[in-house]
Amino acid sequence: MRWLACVMLIVWLSACSTVTPTPVATPLAAPFDQFAEERERMVDDQIIPQDVTDPTVLQAMRRVPRHEFVPPEYLGQSYENHPLPIGYGQTISQPFIVAYMSENLELKPGDRVLEIGTGSGYQAAILADMGMEVYSIEIVPELAAEAEARLKRLGYEVQVRAADGYYGWPEAAPFDAIIVTAAPDHVPQPLIEQLKPGGQLVVPIGPVGAIQTLWQFTLEAGDQLTARNLGEVRFVPFTRSAPSP
Ligand code: SAH
Repeated sequence: MRWLACVMLIVWLSACSTVTPTPVATPLAAPFDQFAEERERMVDDQIIPQDVTDPTVLQAMRRVPRHEFVPPEYLGQSYENHPLPIGYGQTISQPFIVAYMSENLELKPGDRVLEIGTGSGYQAAILADMGMEVYSIEIVPELAAEAEARLKRLGYEVQVRAADGYYGWPEAAPFDAIIVTAAPDHVPQPLIEQLKPGGQLVVPIGPVGAIQTLWQFTLEAGDQLTARNLGEVRFVPFTRSAPSP
């Protein structure tokens, strides 16, 4: 009996002395971003000097990895201040224009924004980073699918629809702001109808292939639209059916 008690004590003692390894908290290393410096330089050298001042816009431009939105062959030009081809004859807009249009939507956190012309999804990601509820329509189904997958992979919450954006997104309306990133030759009436009172519509208008004028329309009380000329721009055409690859 004594012998058994002794053995049990030894077993108990050795159990007590077992060191259970406590998990060591290793901080998740942020993935190395080889473009971080270039992105800072893009904002400091190309965007701030052109008088974009909204801190939320500048912060988003410093954070959203534009290189994830450009085709691999243009990776090295990701942070240069010009548009780049994304296939189907379309382009990802110039960074300054993205910042300038975002600022002129005059957004507050949590606003609902509709974008017409998802393209690569970069503009939509900027708006999502700014804390907006973003809906985006793209007429080229392949671009819509690619952008939707890319935005999801990068963690941006954006609703993407493949359709002709001329008709807007009636089920998700009304919107605090609507941004059109292709150039129609007139303002699509359905978009005005989907704006909240006091809402902003930022849209380039003009003839295909020429210089257009970027307009900020505000829906005032009594359904009156006031227009502000934001300057000359050059966008891809607003089409009514998807172009071929
Ligand atoms: N905002 C994009 C750039 C878009 S280029 C970005 O950040 O990458 C303009 C896009 O508008 C193109 O992808 C083009 O296919 C799309 N587009 C042109 N007409 C359209 C329409 N009627 N409805 C929806 N998208 C349209």
